[in-house]
Amino acid sequence: MLPIAGRGWRCIVCVKPVPDPSLFSKLRLDPETMLLRRDEVPSVINPLDRNAIEAALDIKRRLGGRVAVMTMAPPNAQEQLLEALALGCDRAFLLTDKAFAGADTLATARTLAAGIRKAGRFDLVLCGAWSADGSTAQVGPQLAELLNVPDLVCVTSMDLRSGRILAQCRRENGTVLLDSPRPAVVTLEAGANAPKLPAMGGIGKALKSKVTMWNSRDLGLKPSQVGLAGSPTRMLNVFAASGARKGEILQGTTNEVTAQLLERLRHDGLVTTGKGVSR
Ligand SMILES: Cc1cc2nc3c(=O)[nH]c(=O)nc-3n(C[C@H](O)[C@H](O)[C@H](O)COP(=O)(O)OP(=O)(O)OC[C@H]3O[C@@H](n4cnc5c(N)ncnc54)[C@H](O)[C@@H]3O)c2cc1C
Repeated sequence: MLPIAGRGWRCIVCVKPVPDPSLFSKLRLDPETMLLRRDEVPSVINPLDRNAIEAALDIKRRLGGRVAVMTMAPPNAQEQLLEALALGCDRAFLLTDKAFAGADTLATARTLAAGIRKAGRFDLVLCGAWSADGSTAQVGPQLAELLNVPDLVCVTSMDLRSGRILAQCRRENGTVLLDSPRPAVVTLEAGANAPKLPAMGGIGKALKSKVTMWNSRDLGLKPSQVGLAGSPTRMLNVFAASGARKGEILQGTTNEVTAQLLERLRHDGLVTTGKGVSR
């Protein structure tokens, strides 16, 4: 639960349609293009983006304000946007264009940043901390850089009572508390809240709503800035990782085996302190 009070906040939630994570084992690579055959598994809203939607709706419930939802995706992503509208979002934007295909994280963030600027003034851009499929966790921070606003990543709770953003953010070695002015980009972790399911009333309202669709020309982006052409990442090879492991059974007494194991860990740089084994 996020404790929030004060003036209204205009939130834009970026949602990515991803193949249903419960069906990941059914995903296959096209043997010729080596791209994922996404059409073989139904798409859903990226799980952490549901936390971002819930955080934005919680802000709206407590303060008023507005929540828009935006995706860069093929036209069939309208389904995920309608679900977001059914959950209570007020507007939906679909950035869609054949030219967007093959976008890496930078081209994705550039396109989303152009959409966010065109959508108008915002106080908060909310993203999932990472996507279930690509999982780079780069799009949120790149968005902040392109929009020239602070970024608060891996947020587990927020307090907006001061009119600023006071956020607890998970880090490798613990938690940091960040205090930021608005506007800003925040990326949400799963523990931030408990996403809800759409209510019947929300579904009825969503079915009467219209999704705003923008292409690269609407966003004022050149072909060289979007999709594969606008992506500095080059994919050199894709291969299925082998699950096979080389097993080795060390021989000797417990002390001898421990000494051998430590020696190997030291050799591989996994243990850097302690010499020998006390017997
Ligand atoms: C060379 C190359 C070609 C690629 N071609 C394709 C392709 O043709 N089709 C394809 O689907 N993918 C393609 N990808 C993958 C694509 O780059 C990533 O899926 C995308 O940039 C997002 O990165 P990510 O999944 O790591 O997001 P992360 O950075 O892990 O996502 C964090 C958060 O950012 C937001 N976000 C991320 N992506 C979007 C989005 N599209 N819309 C709205 N919000 C978003 C969400 O809130 C998400 O939770 C390609 C990648 C490369 C390197």
